[in-house]
Amino acid sequence: MLPTVILKGTLIKKSQQKRRTSPCNYKERFFVLDTQDLTYSEQRPGKKPIQKGCIELSRIKCVEIVCSEAPIPCSNKYPFQVVHDNCYLYIFAPDNDCRQRWVRALKEETKCNALLLKYHPNFWMEGRWRCCYQTEKMATGCQEYDPVGYGTASKKPLPPTPDTQRRLSDPGQSVVVALQNYSPHGDTELALHKDQEYILTDSSHHDWWTVQDHRGNTGFVPCTYIAEKSCNNFNRFEWYNKDITRGRAEELLMTEGKEGAFMVRDSRCAGVYTVSVFTKAPGSNGQKNPRVKHYQIRQSEAEETSKFYLAEKYLFMTIPELIQYHQHNAAGLITRLRHPISQGRENFQSPAELSKGQWEVDPAELILGEEVGSGQFGLVLQGRWRERRVAVKMIREGAMSEEDFKEEARVMTILSHCKLVQLYGVCTQHSPMCLVFELMEQGCLSDYLRARRGRMSQDTLLGMCLDVSEGMAYLESNNFIHRDLAARNCLVSCNNVVKVSDFGMTRFVLDDQYTSSQGSKFPIKWSSPEVIKYCKFSSKSDVWSFGVFMWEVYTEGRLPYENRSNGEVVEALNAGLRLLKPRQAPEAVHLLMEWCWKEKPEDRPSFALLLHELASLSDL
Ligand code: ADP
Repeated sequence: MLPTVILKGTLIKKSQQKRRTSPCNYKERFFVLDTQDLTYSEQRPGKKPIQKGCIELSRIKCVEIVCSEAPIPCSNKYPFQVVHDNCYLYIFAPDNDCRQRWVRALKEETKCNALLLKYHPNFWMEGRWRCCYQTEKMATGCQEYDPVGYGTASKKPLPPTPDTQRRLSDPGQSVVVALQNYSPHGDTELALHKDQEYILTDSSHHDWWTVQDHRGNTGFVPCTYIAEKSCNNFNRFEWYNKDITRGRAEELLMTEGKEGAFMVRDSRCAGVYTVSVFTKAPGSNGQKNPRVKHYQIRQSEAEETSKFYLAEKYLFMTIPELIQYHQHNAAGLITRLRHPISQGRENFQSPAELSKGQWEVDPAELILGEEVGSGQFGLVLQGRWRERRVAVKMIREGAMSEEDFKEEARVMTILSHCKLVQLYGVCTQHSPMCLVFELMEQGCLSDYLRARRGRMSQDTLLGMCLDVSEGMAYLESNNFIHRDLAARNCLVSCNNVVKVSDFGMTRFVLDDQYTSSQGSKFPIKWSSPEVIKYCKFSSKSDVWSFGVFMWEVYTEGRLPYENRSNGEVVEALNAGLRLLKPRQAPEAVHLLMEWCWKEKPEDRPSFALLLHELASLSDL
């Protein structure tokens, strides 16, 4: 039976860049969707068209619109993606209706295929996913794929438009971001999820705008809950001060007086931005010298799409991404950007303030018991809190940057996974401050391994690696960097589950010996080359540490590079040497370790991939 044609038309296709070096380009192609294939060909006036590609529909794993603010260098501005085999095909439609027609038809034809569970809503660009920042092209998607999303949307009646006269001339052009969650009341409204992107399709009403989510569902939302995500609209960021002079910026930052207090402001030069940051770091004469430093945000040249950078060439597609990076890494600045300061701060209710109290533990509810350990921050006691057995970290005076920690506590209590040691809350009302965690009855993994040497099966060892890779894949998918992954920072529950602990905590340690890569307590033996050299932490530096963690597991708790000093380890790493295969480790596990220890971060696997590989080993 001959296939029936469902849809045809001219669209623009982006080259698939199968080879790393091939330049990407955009070509007009005539697409035909029939009941068997999606084909595209080059139209030649007066000549027979040449077929340029054909995708069997049975090979398609996902079809979805691409939600992106990235500039699109071709005339069609409405992208969608077709994922087939291991390829991502990006196609650009001339308008939103046309895009919807194609996506809906393709989804309908492929809905019974072996589909992706999760997909990437944004582009793969410049070696990473713009949605979740993963640098593995094949990394699992970060958003659930709904194969009938469009179908459902199409059956839903569209909400009434208050004033058709004032509709946007080009609806569907701008991408907006949700500033807060919003729960819809009734069918005509749409749910908003904080920080997710939507396409603004109608902004004519003064209170209620119409947006479309990544599944194609449309509905009204309060316009105060969203902000346009154009490149230069920073109003939604706490750190942005639009009309402020250099003098006033200095005054505000000096008054705040906190190390790393910062803001981004418009430079005198139109279209240029400056980061102003307060520091107490000693000046060149070694004297303490509270002052404000100003860094202009520069743009790289001679590239297809210019990128932004500050003091050193860590390049980013957007200014918010650049700021986010420097909030965690000084990377050439005098200090990392710690506290955003804005002129309107008095009126600004931060999300943390809005939900204040959620993670504050009432000391009256906390019963303290025996000591179970002690660490960098002080004693750890077991205890009870609301019918739960808990571990309570009593923070020693001067051991922790408490203000910084309190700001981060909300994020850390939100992170929740069965392979992470849960932070239940913080008790800040008394000094010393204490942190309340899930109790892990069998203590830290390195002691656990040593105590059971020679008595653990291969399954047990692999199971430990799997547990930790699961917890880490979760952190990675939330763009959260651990920074100190090691067996000593994993804990064991009463039923032998290994969980990741202490994630992100090194950022709050007030001890130079621990935080500086030159310091005697810095975990050099778990650190990747880029961390040792530039303190450049990322999920990929965590992956390096995970390789060392696997080595610890398979040597049953031996110390890596046992007889070498930190200096000798750095030298050996520079010479390309790596830890040797533990006797107990199967070859496949050793290969994974070596993969984690690739010199370049981008050559290392993601945790999502490691988890997949380890799971397939455990199936053998
Ligand atoms: P720090 O973060 O202050 O360096 P650690 O997290 O290393 O402290 O904890 C020190 C010790 O306390 C651990 O080695 C472990 O024995 C014990 N401990 C820490 N957290 C827990 C917990 N959640 N459950 C049980 N014991 C814990």
